[in-house]
Amino acid sequence: MTQASQTSRSDLVGCPHCGKRNRISAAARGVARCGSCRGLLPWLTEATDADFDAVAVQSSLPVLLDLWAPWCGPCRMVAPGVERAAQQFAGRLKVVKVNVDHSPNTAARYQAQSIPLLLVLQDGEVVARQLGAVPPDALLRWVEGALPPAK
Ligand SMILES: [Zn+2]
Repeated sequence: MTQASQTSRSDLVGCPHCGKRNRISAAARGVARCGSCRGLLPWLTEATDADFDAVAVQSSLPVLLDLWAPWCGPCRMVAPGVERAAQQFAGRLKVVKVNVDHSPNTAARYQAQSIPLLLVLQDGEVVARQLGAVPPDALLRWVEGALPPAK
């Protein structure tokens, strides 16, 4: 990769505790907290080949990586479970979606020949792998099993 692993992209995240909208940098470290009430925020963002290292590999939280593409029907089936994971594991997990059509290097790095491919990463290393569509409840159980225990 020749591009700098920096990104200025950010996401607007509504706080589930107080309703305030927070702007969270995609490459922020640590957990996402509400600037108003300090509550933990669900964190779902996107990355591309250009900023994958900054957003996902350098994350201090475990990352749920969703490798998907717009033409992939089963990818749409897993999307609700992925969004629920961001909410249920707020403060324990950062969810990063990567469109494999736009980010072939990241797709190749994690051998995403077939999608949807869900991975749990810690420091960029795969700690759990789920290939193919999975219902939301099963997805949440799978993520829970891959995460360090709640503090
Ligand atoms: Zn809040």
